[in-house]
Amino acid sequence: MKVAVIGAGYAGLAAAVELAAQGVSVTVYEATKQLGGRARRVDYRGLALDNGQHILLGAYREIQRLMGLIGADPAALLLRLPLQLHIPGRFSLQASSLPAPLHVTQGLLTASGLTWGERIAAVRFVHALRGQKFRLARDTSVGEMLQKHGQSGNLRLYLWEPLCVAALNTPLATASAQTFLNVLRDSLFGSRADSDMLLPLADLTRLFPAYAASFIERHGGSVLPSQTVLDVRVEAGGFVLETRQGSKPFDRVVCAVPPQRLAGLAGTLPQLAAAVALVARFDYQPIYTVFLQYPEEIRLPRPMIGLCGGAAQWVFDHGRLNRQAGLMCVVISAEGPHQALDHGELAQRVDAELRTAFPQLPSPLWHKVIAEKRATFACTPGLDRPGQATPLPNFYLAGDYTAGDYPATLEGAVRSGIKCAKLVLKTP
Ligand SMILES: Cc1cc2nc3c(=O)[nH]c(=O)nc-3n(C[C@H](O)[C@H](O)[C@H](O)COP(=O)(O)OP(=O)(O)OC[C@H]3O[C@@H](n4cnc5c(N)ncnc54)[C@H](O)[C@@H]3O)c2cc1C
Repeated sequence: MKVAVIGAGYAGLAAAVELAAQGVSVTVYEATKQLGGRARRVDYRGLALDNGQHILLGAYREIQRLMGLIGADPAALLLRLPLQLHIPGRFSLQASSLPAPLHVTQGLLTASGLTWGERIAAVRFVHALRGQKFRLARDTSVGEMLQKHGQSGNLRLYLWEPLCVAALNTPLATASAQTFLNVLRDSLFGSRADSDMLLPLADLTRLFPAYAASFIERHGGSVLPSQTVLDVRVEAGGFVLETRQGSKPFDRVVCAVPPQRLAGLAGTLPQLAAAVALVARFDYQPIYTVFLQYPEEIRLPRPMIGLCGGAAQWVFDHGRLNRQAGLMCVVISAEGPHQALDHGELAQRVDAELRTAFPQLPSPLWHKVIAEKRATFACTPGLDRPGQATPLPNFYLAGDYTAGDYPATLEGAVRSGIKCAKLVLKTP
């Protein structure tokens, strides 16, 4: 059986790794030079930056399992921090060392920056969610759900809003409450380690894609960067893939391109019309990443710190993460007024906000802004997402946008790839 995987993002590579591990001959086509798709290394000034800071959760088990399988040791490549959220001068929450779910309850009851009323409301809310098994009869917006459960004031501002925007990359008013609950269920109410936050200690191409490519090649497959698939034709019970380098026949295809590219590739296949139509209804949300290089001796008190009241939402100290001393990575998820600023203005604004939080910071030496304007699909209530199996036999869809419990995340992408591999292996 010859299988083609189109796209070497985390979804396509996960599918290819699972197939290669089962002895299937797999060829991965990737349009760009760099592996990783929306989670990739960006080389700049001799530094390995990323197209955007990524955070994983302990509950994201499948990506950690696959990392282990391909020799990318999660313990060495990910910094594991207990669940915490620190906004200097305003809010501080840290999960305690008690077993789950008491570690969260105690963390909420001892959080600073909340009134006693807010702390108790938070504990009541999470236990009410647990009582209803994190299921909603009807999906609604996170904003509406919070209001219904009396989650207002600082609780909403310092806890739920940052968590929701970080996890779903969608503003509270339009984010899917059910998808948010799926993430809370698996992270806060699984085992204690499930709520840990995992920060990459390597660039995003090295973290998984580079190890995956060498695993696939060691198992007889090939990974072909800079080879765009231009067309997929159904022919003689199989498929023919067209690239600038020529055409090749395959028995099965896993299409792991981003949702915006699906229509271009599969739009002419009538059996894919329903999936293409679903994706055409998606909206997208941006993520802006602002890198600010300060002198090397500058270090923040923690690797990851929350910010509030301006454009910047989180700052990550890459001196503590990737041995890039003095390099700060600021994340701005979801839409907002910052999109009207040019990159220079945005970097200045973010630098000013950082200096308000950390008055000892000197001027930055340089900045680099990376705007991913369509970083993820907008994760809205009741969003219909196409499944991995399609009406076209032996043609599968992988990607963070396909049906699943999670919003657009590395884990969602990886799980979709694994599902496709299972479907490929199941069909005779
Ligand atoms: C800035 C940013 C920050 C993020 N932060 C987080 C985070 O903190 N935590 C988290 O879990 N997730 C985060 N995400 C989301 C996560 O990166 C994505 O969900 C995930 O990378 C999607 O993987 P994918 O394989 O589904 O798609 P993609 O990564 O988009 O991969 C698709 C691949 O297909 C290739 N391709 C397209 N067309 C063709 C063609 N015709 N032929 C061959 N190849 C083709 C593309 O070049 C690409 O490499 C973030 C995303 C961004 C952009």
